[in-house]
Formats: sequence, structure tokens, C-alpha cells
Amino acid sequence: MDHLWTPWRYGYITAGTAGQECVFCSKQQAADRDSFVVFRGEHNFIMLNLYPYNSGHVMIAPYAHIATLEQAEPATREEMMRLTARCEAALRALYKPDGVNLGMNIGACAGAGVAGHIHMHVLPRWCGDASFISVIGETRVLPEELPITWDRLKRALGE
Ligand SMILES: [Zn+2]
Repeated sequence: MDHLWTPWRYGYITAGTAGQECVFCSKQQAADRDSFVVFRGEHNFIMLNLYPYNSGHVMIAPYAHIATLEQAEPATREEMMRLTARCEAALRALYKPDGVNLGMNIGACAGAGVAGHIHMHVLPRWCGDASFISVIGETRVLPEELPITWDRLKRALGE
């Protein structure tokens, strides 16, 4: 099996986790346009990944700072799954992807950039989106700027 390391994807977050504030706790306090929060539910909120794998990469996180899914209240888990489906639908409608990745990394060794605060990734995928420049140049090519993604998704999720 070949291994491809992609440390640039979460370097921004892991750099800030050593004794510093949790990005999900701090972002939920900020104004939506500053924090790129696109939706606020009863128990969870949805924000753009500031260093997205692809345009449209969002994360759904509970307001509560909890490290595992089992610590979440049933209502929080249920709403998280409802919002996941809503994001999936919104991304399909807006971006017409070939596929969608949904997932959580629980714990740092499982790949969580912010290990103390669970979050569900939802991101659109296109066939061939791991392009040459991403693999060789360690650079993602993102066709859409975050404020535009924020605006489109906020409207799509608000409907
Ligand atoms: Zn937190």
C-alpha cells in the first residue's frame, strides 16, 4: 500500500491546540460572517472549514465542548445527523459533486485536528479532485473564496 501524507490539511488547527482555545468554542461566539458559521441549530452549528479540502467543505459541531460522540446528548446526536443530511443535500444542489465525504475523526491518533471537540466533516468530491498539484505541490486548488461559499451555503441552509 502506498501512503500519501497530507499534513498541510490540519496544520493550522493542530498548531493552535497546545494549551490554546478550542476553535469550535471560539468560533461559535463570533459573528457569523467573521467565523464563517453558516447555520446555528438548537444543539449544533455548521461552519466552513477555513482550510477546506474542497470548496464547500463544512463541519458540524455541537455547542458543547465534548471529545466523543458518546458524550453527546441523544438530541445533539440526532440533530447532528439531521444537519449532516441537510448539508449533503445543500452541497449536492449547489456544487453538483460526483460524491460526498461524511465523517468524524475521534481522537488525535484518528486524525482529529481538534481532538477535544467532536465535529462532522461534510465535503463534496469530484472524480479526480486529488490533482497533480495537490499531490506533488502540496497545494489545494480551490475555485471559490470562503466569503462566497459562506454566502451560498448560508442561503441554501436557511431555506
Ligand atoms: Zn470546544
